[in-house]
Amino acid sequence: MNITIDHLNMTYPTGKQALRDINLQMETPSLIGLLGPNGAGKSTLMKLLVAALLPTDGSISVDGTPLTACEKQLKSSLGYLPQHFGLYDELSIWQFLDYMAALKGIQNSRDAIERAITATDLTEKRKAKIRTLSGGQRQRVGIAQALLGTPEFLIFDEPTVGLDPEERIRFRNFFSETAQDKLVLLSTHIIEDVQSVCNQLIVIDQGRILFTGTPEALIRQAEGHVGMFLEQRGDSENPSLHITSRVNTAQGVLCRGVSETLPGGAQAMEPTLEDAYLFLITREGGAQ
Ligand code: ADP
Repeated sequence: MNITIDHLNMTYPTGKQALRDINLQMETPSLIGLLGPNGAGKSTLMKLLVAALLPTDGSISVDGTPLTACEKQLKSSLGYLPQHFGLYDELSIWQFLDYMAALKGIQNSRDAIERAITATDLTEKRKAKIRTLSGGQRQRVGIAQALLGTPEFLIFDEPTVGLDPEERIRFRNFFSETAQDKLVLLSTHIIEDVQSVCNQLIVIDQGRILFTGTPEALIRQAEGHVGMFLEQRGDSENPSLHITSRVNTAQGVLCRGVSETLPGGAQAMEPTLEDAYLFLITREGGAQ
């Protein structure tokens, strides 16, 4: 599957311009992390991709066919977990997935439901009412419904919200395995979610794409802009300096920070993905 997004713009009826001139190319197999602060436009982009919203301008095409002409076909090969996903509290997990399978038009759904339940590790809870589940288990039910019918294109909007650290690691591994033969797009504002598993990153802020490429390429952009230094008086006057950690030592406050220009005497450090993301977001934000 090959998705092409061409000069896409989205302005809500309120006048809010949520996306500006988005151009992207995505193809199977990939695990793509869509990163950006709250309000960046991630959910809007995902809603446009699943045809839940129509763009103000520009186009999305799937394998060369405009989305408007292949919406039905795309929906049959799509699994989508929206950010705010309503579950039916009085149904059991099995009943809920059975209902979702019927909505998706999946015939003989028993096997599909079994596979989704196994993949999300909900076998023991299959008969439990949804209202009795923990936040993490509810999130897993949301992921399970997206997996019904073995979709080729999976879109998860903030899938790790509400999961504890152990569950998040399990889900990262799960996304990575799933993406071996699929196109998986996963939005998050948590860097660890994409760090070790995504082969491509898209960073957006204020509706604009700031970066597309590999995590390694994003990290390279921050080389020479991350350092350790002892806090000095003038630091607060450097608008591009963003301190990421502060430790009290006998010599003074030892800081780690990212900046267009590091303070004098700073020792350059290898950037992490988190440093690189912060550098990109603050540099671009500051440049406006
Ligand atoms: P993200 O998912 O990155 O947090 P969203 O796509 O939800 O960002 O929102 C992008 C911008 O569009 C935000 O400023 C948000 O307030 C605005 N927005 C989102 N949905 C609507 C809507 N239905 N009507 C008007 N503005 C909206």
